[in-house]
Amino acid sequence: MSEQMIPAARPIIGDEEREAVDRVLRSGMVAQGPEVAAFEEEFAAELAGSRPTVAVNSGTSGQHLGMVALGLGPGDEVIVPSFTFAATANSVAVTGATPVFVDIDLDTFCIDPSAIEGAITERTVGIQPVHLYGHPAEIDTIAEIAGRHGLWVAEDAAQAHGATWKGRQVGTFGRFGMFSLYPTKNMTSGEGGMVACEDEELARAVRLLRNQGMEVQYANEVAGFNNRMTDLHAAIGRVQLTRLVGWTAQRRANAAALDEGLAGIAGVVAPVVREGAEHVYHQYTIRLDGASAAERDAFAAALREEHRVGCGVYYPTPVHRLPSFGLDLDLPVTERAAREVLSLPVHPSLTENDLERIVAAVAAVAAGGAA
Ligand SMILES: *Cc1c(COP(=O)(O)O)cnc(C)c1O
Repeated sequence: MSEQMIPAARPIIGDEEREAVDRVLRSGMVAQGPEVAAFEEEFAAELAGSRPTVAVNSGTSGQHLGMVALGLGPGDEVIVPSFTFAATANSVAVTGATPVFVDIDLDTFCIDPSAIEGAITERTVGIQPVHLYGHPAEIDTIAEIAGRHGLWVAEDAAQAHGATWKGRQVGTFGRFGMFSLYPTKNMTSGEGGMVACEDEELARAVRLLRNQGMEVQYANEVAGFNNRMTDLHAAIGRVQLTRLVGWTAQRRANAAALDEGLAGIAGVVAPVVREGAEHVYHQYTIRLDGASAAERDAFAAALREEHRVGCGVYYPTPVHRLPSFGLDLDLPVTERAAREVLSLPVHPSLTENDLERIVAAVAAVAAGGAA
């Protein structure tokens, strides 16, 4: 019990980030300005195929503004997975439109493309897949289905900075792709988000909505919000962006070590990586095959309390069943994933000893019959 807790996630903030914030503070200009503009350019070049990219104050804001810019509103339906963070569906619901929840693929935990067509109605306008845990959804197939039905695609890439599908970066397939910069994500700006847009016209619409509908001050063209990013946050994000490639490589190396260590442990299914996918391991999520939610929760408690290994359940309740939506739907794979998933630490600060401890702890708890 004297061992140190291995945290489930650990944002890395260093001297360079502190110096960057200090530089902005000393400039006396802290709201949206040149740091945000530079961050947008750098982020787009590094992660979004140089698409016109708009920085906002959170991933959720970005997703919301993207939806408003696409004209989403009451009467419209957007197809989303239910096994995700609530923001995916909230961004649709807060416009007055209706999220239509479909099931996922048990291997990748991403939306099941074969479930999409059955959910399309005359009200459907778009599809919003999620690149969950950093594994790309089958976005080319989804885009093909959308194209055939005259629908748009918006990507929730909140957890997938730098992930690729068949060599192309996620967030660059749809009308827009949203990236989150929340502290536990693969990179952070404190809070923040990026909206990578397919064309300049959509980017301009998002920029207007971000800033009260103004491009020229006090010449408001549309009714908008204040969802601006500050230069303080952008300065942090710019430093983090320079580290992302190294951190992602470390996450992938950590995942490979966990894959190797966990192979052969009965009842534990390591993350599946689809052919054509480059996984960035925002989470390293195992499945306790056949477990009930109570058994999975006991497994998690044993890892934390007996072995001091942090872990998390993302997400214990499918979004459609949350009180905010309160729907009774038949999504068996979603329900199963919600019972069986458990995310182990994979963040870049793990040491070799940490990785060994994680593997040994999972093996011990699995052998102890907690699951
Ligand atoms: C984090 C996250 C969001 C929201 O991003 P914020 O920056 O926290 O607003 C949306 N979707 C998913 C899948 C997320 O993980």
